[in-house]
Parts: sequence; structure tokens; C-alpha cells
Amino acid sequence: MIGAVIRVPDLIERKRNGEALADEEIAELVLGFTRGEIPDYQMSAWCMAVYFRGLSGRETHALTDAMIRSGETLDLASALGRRVVDKHSTGGVGDKTSVAVGPIVAACGVPFGKMSGRGLGHTGGTLDKLESIPGFRVELTIDEFIRQLKEIQLAIIGQTGDLVPADKKLYALRDVTATVDIVPLIASSIMSKKLAGGADAIVLDVKVGDGAFMKTIEDARILAEQMVDLGRRAGREVVCVLTDMDQPLGAAVGHALEIREAVETLGAEGPPDFTELVLDASARLLELSDLGVDLEEGRRRAEQVTTDGSAREMYERWVRAQGGDPDLDALPRAPVVREVLSPRAGFVTRLAALPIGIAALELGGGRRTKDDDIDHAVGVVCSAKRGQTVEEGQVLADVHARDDESAARAAELVLGAYAVTDEPPRTPHGIHLDVIA
Ligand code: URA
Repeated sequence: MIGAVIRVPDLIERKRNGEALADEEIAELVLGFTRGEIPDYQMSAWCMAVYFRGLSGRETHALTDAMIRSGETLDLASALGRRVVDKHSTGGVGDKTSVAVGPIVAACGVPFGKMSGRGLGHTGGTLDKLESIPGFRVELTIDEFIRQLKEIQLAIIGQTGDLVPADKKLYALRDVTATVDIVPLIASSIMSKKLAGGADAIVLDVKVGDGAFMKTIEDARILAEQMVDLGRRAGREVVCVLTDMDQPLGAAVGHALEIREAVETLGAEGPPDFTELVLDASARLLELSDLGVDLEEGRRRAEQVTTDGSAREMYERWVRAQGGDPDLDALPRAPVVREVLSPRAGFVTRLAALPIGIAALELGGGRRTKDDDIDHAVGVVCSAKRGQTVEEGQVLADVHARDDESAARAAELVLGAYAVTDEPPRTPHGIHLDVIA
């Protein structure tokens, strides 16, 4: 029983006063909460104290370690007799990277095993995107996951409840107590799941901008450094790229639309920013794999499989292995498509990610609560991106909707996300902002 070892009000008070807690105290708190011995109200108070006082690197490591110990862990390297690589993005608008990176890396001969999440709010989740493919099963058992990894080197499934149950409980609590956006809690939440998932090498993509958790590059760097540090302490290789989320990634936002764009990218026909991100992440994963290649050779191989058809072939094998129909014509299509036209000629100086994410959410593509049903067909395709020139009346974006009314509402939001001016944008940076290793 917890009370014999720690007094929870003392831990809350000491954290509230800015003191550091011992590793065992943090472990007892997390494990006691997961076992249901510490009530939500005490854990919420502790999270709020952490929000204002923070955690040291050692405390964040102790928290991550305790979260991992709250459930099962996988040892994929032993199961496969190979190094296994994984990637994770902190989430954004139009982020279908895993759907393209997985087949590229696997087509290059490296096992890619990933547990993904669902979207909440304006950010989409990989599982929801995959479920727009008719028949695709995201709920494989761990045995099926490992068998598929052995057979075709690629599997993406839902997080099982047995891995890091502490995070599931804690995240749900943070979500309703305004304690999500605090770096050590985000770092431990993400890294506990990645480390328990068993990959030897992990590429992390921290999104920065109006459509992401991290609004500034400074905050993103702090999160990246903490996650790289947690990986290193656990003996894994971790590289973190910081990438732009001040506009949607690629053109498509919405589940089936994003699957189509990811598959086009596998055939070297994707939008430039998304293609660059996918090839770079794939090259970094190949560099961290057991192939013994450097970043340049990794990039060359990643490009090769997108031009010779093998990445697309791998996608089809993977989708079939998980019960889905890989034919793009089988993806659902929205009945109404409405064009959003530029009111003037000029440069696209802004295409805010958040309103595009909200438009997709309001079209029915997202959830407001975790039990909401979602519409896989709807979304927005932003054909004009920041830095491009447009003519008056040129199509900026297409809204894919269930009916005219929702299309009109979304079109207004999409138009408001754009700014078209006489001067080009002042920050013509590419998709990559920084790399932390
Ligand atoms: N994603 C996670 O998995 N956890 C967080 O705390 C934030 C984003």
C-alpha cells in the first residue's frame, strides 16, 4: 500500500514549493496512481505543481522509468534478431509521415514497427488515417505484430493497453486539468511509450508552429533535448528533427485524402515539403539501422525505392497484411468538393495550420471527445502553399465535405487561414528548422 511509503500531500507540497523529489517518491506516486491507490484529485494537484515548478532531468527520467514499469515492455531486437527503428511526431495538421516513411524504410530492408495513436482536437492521428483504408485492422495482438514484422518488415498498430498504462491514465487526467502543455510531462509521456515499444533507434519529429503543441522554436528545442536525453539514458539512439508546423504539412488534410497523398509520395509524386520531410526521416532511420550506411547513402536508397516502385509495392503488401484494400479507388470520397479562390493576385504569405485543422475537424474529420465517430472522406487540400504566387481567382484549396452547408462553413475558415500580399513572406525557411542529436 502506498500510504506506508509516501505521504502524497507532502509530495504535492514539496513540488509546489519547488523542491526536487527522490526517484523512489516519483515511482511510488506514478505506480500508486496507476494501481488506483492515489486519487485523481491528488495526481492533478501534483501535475499542476509540476506545471509551475517543472522537473529536473533526473526527475523526468525517474518519471519516465516509472511509467515504463507500470506495464509490459517489448524487446523487438531479441524477437527479430535485428535492430528495429521507429519514428514519432509530436503531431500537427496534415502529418501523414509514418504512412510514407514505414514502406520506404521497410522497402530498404529495415524492420519498421510502430505503435501509433489517434487524433484529438485539430491534430490527426495515424490510426484514424489508416482506418480510412477499407478493411485495415489497427488492432493486432503483440504476437501478430511481431509475426508481421518478421514476414514483411512493416507493421503499424494501435498502442496496446498493456504498454505504459500509467500514461493512458495520466494523459486523460492532464487533458482535463490544463496540464498537457508542459515539457517534462510531454517528454516522459512520449518517451515512455517509445522506449516500452522496444525500438533500438528512434527519429523524433517535434513540430513547431501555430498548428503544433510547441509554438516557438525555443520551447521545441527544450522538448527535443529532454527527449534525446531520456533516450540516451535508456541506451537507445535518438535523433530529433524540428520541423515547421506554421502551415499544414503537404497539401492534404483529412484521413483518406492524406492516405492518397502519402501513396503518391511513395511513387515520388508527392508535394515538395512533405517529400523532403519523408526522405529525410527515412534517411535518418536508415542511418540508425543495422545497414551500416551514412545519411547520404540512406537518402540515396530512400529516393531509389520511391522511383523504382518498391516503396509503393511495400505499401500494398503491408496494407494487405493488415486486412486492407490498397487500391486508392477504394478510399472513401466526399460527395461535395468546393473550391476556395484567391481574392487577389500576389504571394501567399500565410497559410495558418490551426484554422485548416479546425476546418477539417468541423467537417467531421476529427473528434471533440474521444468516443466521437469520424468521417474519413472529408478534409481540405491546400494546393497553394506559403511562398507561392497566385492569380486572382486561382484555386487556393479544395474543401471535401459531406454537404453544401458544412462545405461553405469550412471554406470560410480556409479562406481566413490564407494571406495573399504584394510582398513575398519574410521567413522563406524550408520544412527543417533544426536537428538535435
Ligand atoms: N503526445 C503524447 O503522447 N503525450 C503528450 O503528453 C503530448 C503529446
